[in-house]
Parts: sequence; C-alpha cells; structure tokens
Amino acid sequence: MAVQSVWRFVDWVLQLDTSGSVPFFEMNCMRCDETSKAAESPDGPQNWALKHAGRTGHDLFQAVNTCYFRATRANIKAGDDLPSYHTQAGSSSARVASHP
Ligand SMILES: [Zn+2]
Repeated sequence: MAVQSVWRFVDWVLQLDTSGSVPFFEMNCMRCDETSKAAESPDGPQNWALKHAGRTGHDLFQAVNTCYFRATRANIKAGDDLPSYHTQAGSSSARVASHP
C-alpha cells in the first residue's frame, strides 16, 4: 500500500498586529456619503455622528473598527494542552492541517 498524502497538524496563533497601524474607528452616515475622520478612539467618530444627526437629521450610522491580525505558527511544545480552538480578546489559536 502506497502512502498518497501526509498530513501534519500545526498550531497557529492569530494576534493583533499594531506594527503597521494601531486599531482605528470611523463612523459612516448611511443616509449620505459623509464620514467621520478616523481616530484611535471611538469617542471622536461617535461625537461626529451625533453632531451630523443634529445638523442633518440623518439617523443611521455604520461604525467601522479596523485592525490587523497576524497569523504565526505557535511555539507549542509536545504535551502542552492547547484546545483545538481557543479564542480570547486580541488573539485566537487553532490546530490546522498544514503543508509539510
Ligand atoms: Zn448623513
């Protein structure tokens, strides 16, 4: 019997990556094309939305939180207890089939 494929399972970790940009927030008016300025805190965009609503009567907004995640192979030693899927704030990990 010939071996047709070999599967290797590798742990990968997904972590928030702020090396290129910190997370930022924006608000988009859904009644017109106006958008708040991007900000590192949601406070400024939310204040913009309230002022925009007061000025125009537009009442529906889309909140956008943009951040980047980087996937890397986990440095897990044999015998470490890693759930097959684990999520917590800012990172998650999974054991997935990977090319050798
Ligand atoms: Zn608007």
